[in-house]
Amino acid sequence: MTDAQTSRAVGQEGRPAHGGTIIEIDGLNKWFDKFHVLTDISLTVSAGERIVICGPSGSGKSTLIRCINGLEKVQQGRIAVNGIDLTAKAGNIDAVRQEVGMVFQQFNLFPHMTIMQNCMLAPMRSRGKSKAEAEELAMKYLTRVRIGDQAKKYPSQLSGGQQQRVAIARALCMTPKIMLFDEPTSALDPEMVKEVLDTMIGLAEDGMTMLCVTHEMGFARSVADRVIFMADGKIVEQAPPEQFFSNPQHETTRNFLGQIL
Ligand code: ADP
Ligand code: MG
Repeated sequence: MTDAQTSRAVGQEGRPAHGGTIIEIDGLNKWFDKFHVLTDISLTVSAGERIVICGPSGSGKSTLIRCINGLEKVQQGRIAVNGIDLTAKAGNIDAVRQEVGMVFQQFNLFPHMTIMQNCMLAPMRSRGKSKAEAEELAMKYLTRVRIGDQAKKYPSQLSGGQQQRVAIARALCMTPKIMLFDEPTSALDPEMVKEVLDTMIGLAEDGMTMLCVTHEMGFARSVADRVIFMADGKIVEQAPPEQFFSNPQHETTRNFLGQIL
């Protein structure tokens, strides 16, 4: 690497610097029947950026991130992921899903498959990997989330925290450019939250582009480049964490922070 490349890769404060735009949302509006769930959402995310989305229950956080990998139909506006316009034609959804990994509150592992098989499925089906290649990938990422020794077990034999780490490894096996997390620690017993957050911090340190819906404000403070606060289907405000927590601009944000901090 040249010096210029090194400084771009490392950036300030040891955090990876950001690349070009990887997600572009412009004038997004979405309705469930007559209910206007997302209103005029515009958001640009740079490659390598870590974003935390918070806000009251029902504010549209899940719906917004589900729109980013085509799990929800968008009625108005444009979403482009890695240069692929999701809203342009139906066929683009598959292309976008190849780039985007998602981890849900409920781990959604297949109960009848081993941990290893859970991780091998998508690379074999969607990426055309051979069994041996998929096995190698699975082991690489299971090891990375420190759970390689559990590969032969079934999901029900693992703790919630371990299952969620498997869900993260499974998403990584598709070598996504972006990871979306929807309250990944909300269903966990308190003593398991840290192991999942630590896994996510590791991913952030490796430069993964991440959008995380979470109310783990310690995570937001230490990892996020930007915190976005949503209420009633709108982005109310967004700021770097130091600013967001010390000087929230809107009363709705202050009330919300007062309740959770
Ligand atoms: P959050 O994740 O911030 O709690 P959601 O995005 O899940 O919010 O939901 C936003 C609003 O949209 C809520 O009022 C919810 O009831 C409603 N909603 C979510 N999914 C659907 C759906 N499939 N059909 C109708 N309404 C929905
Ligand atoms: Mg939600």
